[in-house]
Amino acid sequence: MTKDQLLTRLLTRRSALLFGAAACGAAGTAGVLAAVTGDQPVRPAAPAAGPATHLAPKPSAYRLQPLTGYGPPAAAPARPHVRREPLLRMSGRGRSMVLTFDDGPDPRYTPDILDTLAEYDVRAMFFVCGEMAADNRELLARMADEGHVVGNHTWSHPLLTRLSRGRIRSEMERTCEVIEEAYGEPPVWFRAPYGAWNRAAFQLGAELGMEPLAWTVDTLDWATPGTRAIVGRVVNGAAPGVVVLSHDAGGDRTQSVRALRDYLPHLLDSGYHVTVPRRQYA
Ligand SMILES: [Zn+2]
Repeated sequence: MTKDQLLTRLLTRRSALLFGAAACGAAGTAGVLAAVTGDQPVRPAAPAAGPATHLAPKPSAYRLQPLTGYGPPAAAPARPHVRREPLLRMSGRGRSMVLTFDDGPDPRYTPDILDTLAEYDVRAMFFVCGEMAADNRELLARMADEGHVVGNHTWSHPLLTRLSRGRIRSEMERTCEVIEEAYGEPPVWFRAPYGAWNRAAFQLGAELGMEPLAWTVDTLDWATPGTRAIVGRVVNGAAPGVVVLSHDAGGDRTQSVRALRDYLPHLLDSGYHVTVPRRQYA
């Protein structure tokens, strides 16, 4: 591949990412507009016209909104429907795989993982815990800068099935807040600690605008089985749509860091597109 071809590919990919973001923004805006047309009383100052006017509001009409007190939030994301099971894999994306790293960020390991992903120009998902994110905000900012997706993995990594609904809400909400502050956007994905989901988790996640994502292949790296064992699990489990679970915190993650350096080029050489899911794909 020539340098120009590489550049074209990079730009295309960057455009795709930007297009994805724009699409989400457009969906949010459509929701806002629907709310305006549906709920707002017709004000005398507004021109007497159909919904088309609302799709392209005149500046003067738009400026009236904050004064009325009816103004919806600027970015009202579409709320996902409540699932009964988490998503386990990606669908319809060809030879794509998703790498996910849970429990961080941890300044001892996460930067190494980010370095490797950057070296191969690959994007991944980080399901962060709020209490870790609050202490390592600069790592969330780096994830944002480098195009990675940050998901919600609760504040303190509890077993949600043993918590009250109020506690689950607090675990999720606080984490959404710190992610939005440090990463720059609220999370649209969440993952229950230990993969232990319940109805409240699905309902609250949907209320907070997040889709539940589990995984297809568990590297079991938390048990420190050895770098080769982790690499073997990823390479043997590789298939289109597979979501891989690893950890960048929660203990000594040296093996997870080393394994990524080994299996990532393997996956790419095998023709896999290592990527992150779109917000709504299922
Ligand atoms: Zn976890």
